[in-house]
Amino acid sequence: MLSAAPPPGAVDTTEFIRHVKQIDTMIGPGDPPPYSIINEKGRGQVLLVGDHVSPVIPRALGNLGLDETLLEQHIAYDIGTRKLVHHLSQHLDAPAVLAGYSRLVVDLNRSLEDASVMPEVSDDTPIPGNQNMSLEHRNQRIHNFYTPYRKAVDMMLHGFREKEVVPAFISIHSFTPQMAGFVRPWHAGILWDKDPRIPVPLMANLRAHADGFNIGDNEPYSGKHPADYTIDHHAEASGIPHVSIEIRQDLVNTEAGAERWATILDDALRDILADPELYQVWQSI
Ligand SMILES: [Zn+2]
Repeated sequence: MLSAAPPPGAVDTTEFIRHVKQIDTMIGPGDPPPYSIINEKGRGQVLLVGDHVSPVIPRALGNLGLDETLLEQHIAYDIGTRKLVHHLSQHLDAPAVLAGYSRLVVDLNRSLEDASVMPEVSDDTPIPGNQNMSLEHRNQRIHNFYTPYRKAVDMMLHGFREKEVVPAFISIHSFTPQMAGFVRPWHAGILWDKDPRIPVPLMANLRAHADGFNIGDNEPYSGKHPADYTIDHHAEASGIPHVSIEIRQDLVNTEAGAERWATILDDALRDILADPELYQVWQSI
């Protein structure tokens, strides 16, 4: 007699297969991929990353219960950074890895141990779709959005290693001009922790600009551990030269602004990135 039931002792895979299918369905038709790579064959000895370039929520998550207009604001993404990374990628002829989804879905610049990796509240705004999530749902988000991005960055870094090239790693963010009633005075901020090779001369070069920029040193956020996970995880741990750059959003929220700041950053980075001494694995003592 034929039976659908597995023989005694056999592993029933039905449940597992159903679970995998469920996981795979979080990115539906019309949703973007979890990351994209631009200028993949760029010859620059630099990898750019944009953790927060995208405001997109996958359809399966129904805007996380938020009003559409909120998803156009800074809590959903770093306004202007997609354009800025595109322009900078051209200027430096550097490949760039860009996030496909909003940081409200899963924050790619957080470790999985960090409670704010799927924030229940962002800048005082409750995120209904992130509250009371089951472990299974959390794991689906990690599987769909977080892990593929991490792997894409690793894959690009592996490509440099295969060519025996030590790349510079540059992470691009933007910050809202006002936070909790405080008007932030900086045009841009340079975030760093232990490795000074790019951040220290970059701050000096930007401050020397004719426009007299106010450049934050670990402002408006600190790059000190455990903040800035992407840098910690992909760059600091392996000793490749790195920096996180934060630009005020009103300066890069137009095509012209993004292009202007790509030029400013390119100019400020030029002598730093032209120094062959930079491209060495660095070990703090
Ligand atoms: Zn950011």
